[in-house]
Order: sequence, then C-alpha cells, then structure tokens
Amino acid sequence: MNYKKIILKRGKEESLKRFHPWVFSGAIAHIDDGVEEGDLVAVYTSAKEFIAVGHFQIGSIAVRILDFTEREIDDDFFYERLQRAYELRKSIGLIRPDNNAFRLVHGEGDFLPGLVVDIYDRTAVVQAHSPGMHFARNTIAQALVKIADGLIRNVYYKSETTLPYKAQLDPQNDYIIGGFETNIAIENGLKFHVDWLKGQKTGFFVDQRDNRSLLEHYAKGRNVLNMFCYTGGFSFYAMRGQANLVHSVDSSSKAIKLTNDNVELNFPGDPRHKAFAEDAFKFLNGIDDQYDLIILDPPAFAKHKSALKNALIGYRKLNSKAFERIKSGGILFTFSCSQAVNKDQFRLAVFSAAAQSGRKVRILHQLTQPSDHPINIYHPEGEYLKGLVLYVE
Ligand code: SAH
Repeated sequence: MNYKKIILKRGKEESLKRFHPWVFSGAIAHIDDGVEEGDLVAVYTSAKEFIAVGHFQIGSIAVRILDFTEREIDDDFFYERLQRAYELRKSIGLIRPDNNAFRLVHGEGDFLPGLVVDIYDRTAVVQAHSPGMHFARNTIAQALVKIADGLIRNVYYKSETTLPYKAQLDPQNDYIIGGFETNIAIENGLKFHVDWLKGQKTGFFVDQRDNRSLLEHYAKGRNVLNMFCYTGGFSFYAMRGQANLVHSVDSSSKAIKLTNDNVELNFPGDPRHKAFAEDAFKFLNGIDDQYDLIILDPPAFAKHKSALKNALIGYRKLNSKAFERIKSGGILFTFSCSQAVNKDQFRLAVFSAAAQSGRKVRILHQLTQPSDHPINIYHPEGEYLKGLVLYVE
C-alpha cells in the first residue's frame, strides 16, 4: 500500500477509532503534496500511526473511509465488498423471483461511502456521490457483473446530479456495461416501470418497500389518498389490499404518467384508481373528509442543515392539512426522508400539527428504512427515512 498521507491533529483520531467513516477537514494537520480530489489516501494519527484508508475530497467531509486496515483498494476490494452486500440481501430473503428490485449498496451502510447501487431485475443503476467513487466507476461496474453468480448484466451509471458540482468531473449518464434490457421490475409481486434514464434518483424509491407492505394491510375498504405518489408505489399496494378507491397525486405530470402506466401493468382498467397532476397543498385545500387513509411522502424538505427550520415548518403545515381533512377513524402514513431532520424533530413537527387540529391522534407504528438500506452502527447519520402511522379520531 503506497498512498499519499493525511495526518490528523492531536486527539482527532477518536471518532475513527470508533469506526466512524468520515474525516472532517478541520481534523487535518497535514496533507501530502499533490493529493487531489478523489485520490486514495492513508490517514495517520498525530503520533504517525496508521488508522485508515479512504477517498479524499475537497469539502467539509475530507476523507470517506473505505477500510481501517492497511490494504490496497483494488479490484478485489470492490469485488469482495459488493459480493458481501449481495450475500446480506440474499440471506435475509430480499432477492426472489417476485422481488427483483432492491438496493445493493447503501453507502456507509455497506462500507462503501459515496456509493449507491440499486438493482432492477438484471440492471444495476450506479450513483457516485464522491469523486473517488466516480474514478472507481469502471472497476465497480466490472465487479458488479462478476458478483451474484452473474445476476447483473447491465450497469447504468447515473451521477450527473449526485457528484459535487465544484469538482467539475462532468460525468455522463450512460451504460458502462450492456444496455437496455427491460425496465420492468417486481417488488413484492407488483410490477413497476422504472425510468432510470429520465426518472428521479435511480428511477424508483426502493426504500418504501416495507412501509408499502404495511399499508396494504390497512387498506381494505378505505378511500386512499396517495400524496407525492411519484411512480405510484403505495397506490398499488392499497389496490391489492382491497381499497375502495385510490387517488394518486403528484405535481409532476411525468410522475402521473408513470403511475397510470403502472396501474395498467398491475390492474388494467381498474376503475378504483385516479391520478391527478397537481400541487399537494392545492389538492389538500380542495378536499373534504372523503379520505380515511392518507399517505404523505414528500421530497426532502431539508437537503442541508441550514434549511432545517424551514423544513420543519413545511412538515408542520403539510401534516396540519391532512389532520384537518382526514375522516374520523382515518389512518395517516406520514414520512420525512430529509437526512438533516432527525426522528425527534420530525415527530415534534407532526405533534404540533396534530395539536393545532385539536384531533385525538395516536401513534400506531414508527417506521424507518428497510433492511437493504442498512445503517452502519458507527454512522448514525445513515438513518434518514422516518415515518409515523397515526390513528386520527
Ligand atoms: N411516495 C413515492 C416517492 C415520493 S418522492 C414512492 O413511494 O415512490 C416525492 C415526489 O413528490 C416526487 O415525485 C415529486 O414530483 C413530488 N412533489 C414535489 N413537490 C410536490 C408538490 N408541491 N406537490 C405534489 N407533489 C410534489
């Protein structure tokens, strides 16, 4: 191993000793000459003891740790990490003929900070969030087609919007291996068109799988409003769960088209479903108490800590609308996917909204992200999805 060195200030190795995978720029005393963005670096304590190896980056998080031993970060490293990520998902029963959409790599949760890989049938969609992972993209793609007994045949690289803009890496979204095969993936027996070419994120929100399943069990005979539906995920589980009617709302007309296409795929001609391309607040203002199961799954209101205050106001306002309108005996599934908002802050925003409405509200479930989005226990920041299931009288 012959990587350039980074030396920490005195005492700044403590978090690394507890296996936290980030080095902040303020902790660094010395950087070897010639270290560039995306380079592999070896991190040393002020006493010149080796502590970790990782990817260097310009910014507040200066190094994302890949390993705490003195090892080469080579083809074998990526092969081993990816195979391990696959084996975890396989061993917990996530990969099945009736479930071929799953997250294979969830950054720090799979000891690969800066990397996200979602699998849709035989296609892997790869997102790099760090320059180091961008430079490793071809190695990663080659490893992906070798793991999992050859399950993966196509690798699509999609990092145009996830890499730091300032790094000027100019990544092009494109297939690194293979090409288009099918865009239909299956989640718990339901089929979805996944648009990784033009859709949001990697094309589908795999992180709501378990929460959608839970919703299915509450849907029978209810009038369901799926707010911020995107590709309609929650709607089809509600339909399979024998909902009375399901209305899906999203401000993006592309999302509404995807939702309608997905209805046709699973429940062709089913008159219970209608989709509306409309702003959520406008839609909620225009309804009475016709819905007794409402889902609120908005985009991240706070992308950064600086936006926290406004985000909390946003969550309060949105949930207030739902509390005002939902039918007595109704159930509200409400979520936040903002990493900058923690569980308690989100709960406080929902609590304020409930109090404002004066309704009797009880928590039935506290939800989080599924097991293919594991949280590295030494990196609590990896927990980002929060949800509450509420019974409203
Ligand atoms: N619930 C979805 C994921 C939601 S992602 C799922 O299970 O897959 C958030 C969605 O909110 C996006 O599709 C985005 O187009 C939509 N959106 C953003 N702002 C909105 C607004 N003001 N009104 C309605 N939809 C909005």
